[in-house]
Amino acid sequence: MTQLNCPRCTDKKLTHFSHEGVDFDFCNDSCLGIWADEGEFATYISEHQKNIPEPTQAKLTEMACPRCVNNRLVETKITQDSGTKVDICITCNGIWFDKSELGSVKDELVKLGLGNKLSVTTQYLEKKGYSLKV
Ligand SMILES: [Zn+2]
Ligand SMILES: [Zn+2]
Repeated sequence: MTQLNCPRCTDKKLTHFSHEGVDFDFCNDSCLGIWADEGEFATYISEHQKNIPEPTQAKLTEMACPRCVNNRLVETKITQDSGTKVDICITCNGIWFDKSELGSVKDELVKLGLGNKLSVTTQYLEKKGYSLKV
């Protein structure tokens, strides 16, 4: 399968991985950000939360969507009442998490009672030799 480009480090390719039945693409070589295609993050958190970010109050970024290359990502809140920002593509509905955003995403997941699930995922990544510190 074709590797996606990192929206942050445009010359780097994302590494694909699957965990807990969900597919992610990870910028293992450089910025440590994570891309989730439409529905994947929602699947990941679906036991507690079905809403994906609403692109209201969105701000256009300089980053190109790894899937739709010609579209730029917009910065938006992860949930309606959350202070955590993520970058999404309003065409394919994929979500980009910067490494710096992962810390607050983790806090959100802990609030939703999904902290353990995230640590299982990060441990899995570390076993594969990736360094995802959140
Ligand atoms: Zn990157
Ligand atoms: Zn897209």
